[in-house]
Amino acid sequence: MVPVCPGYGIKERLGEGGFGTVYAIKVVKLSPGMSNLDLLEEEIYALSQLSHPNIVSFIEVVEHKSVKHIVMEYCGRGDLRKFLNFHLELCATVPESRIKSIFVQLLLALHHCHHSFFGEWSLLHRDIKPENVLFSENGTVKLGDFGLSKILEASQQQAISFVGTPGYLAPEVFAGKRYGAKADMFSLGCLLYEMCALDAPIFSGKDNKQPIQDRIPDTFSPEVKSLAGSLLQHEPSKRPSSADLLSRRYVAEWLREISSRP
Ligand code: ATP
Repeated sequence: MVPVCPGYGIKERLGEGGFGTVYAIKVVKLSPGMSNLDLLEEEIYALSQLSHPNIVSFIEVVEHKSVKHIVMEYCGRGDLRKFLNFHLELCATVPESRIKSIFVQLLLALHHCHHSFFGEWSLLHRDIKPENVLFSENGTVKLGDFGLSKILEASQQQAISFVGTPGYLAPEVFAGKRYGAKADMFSLGCLLYEMCALDAPIFSGKDNKQPIQDRIPDTFSPEVKSLAGSLLQHEPSKRPSSADLLSRRYVAEWLREISSRP
């Protein structure tokens, strides 16, 4: 998947270290003739303000020979794309308990961005996709890559730029309309669908007539199926917010399950 708005990062990972803490470093590459500096400042600012167990921790920015390096927490167990590819290769369904665990951790991360960020401000991630969902050494899910994120003031609450990754874009983003946090919720629904169906995302820009529930294998619970269906509603106002979901009893149960695991 190629982001609509050209990215500037190149990934570099440090190996495991026996003698100290290992960090991940994102080397910032500016495309010729393009000023991505503003985007970078937004990413650094957003990351530096966020502090949540399910969001990749920002450490610092180091400038070396005029090249900026974003130093952040290293997530050594790869990303959700690799996790899904692994299951695809084995033709093995991802266990529902695992999907619920990944889903609620992402939900908590998004809730932090949408509601708890800086009090009066909120943050749209705008690029929720499997490549940006990372696993730390102990298996904790971490939302990463805030390179396309957008800080919104309380009065604003909506953005208009067409950014994100085709395949995970909410219909309103695709259509060039104003959008808000519900666009991230749609992308979260795409991830949920992809984890259940191990299928490519096929929704963007389309008002699909076939109910999403029907495309998720029957081995999954009705709760998971209807959750995916509600997040993938074409109309943003019909989608639940992160706060709506966190107040649902079954989501609270999923949260209890992950917190009770050793
Ligand atoms: P793109 O432009 O494709 O979105 P990018 O250049 O902005 O990518 P990131 O999306 O931040 O770079 O990271 C790309 C990949 O690098 C991730 O999918 C992940 O596999 C790996 N990666 C990113 N951050 C970390 C991290 N903190 N720890 C370990 N691996 C990471």
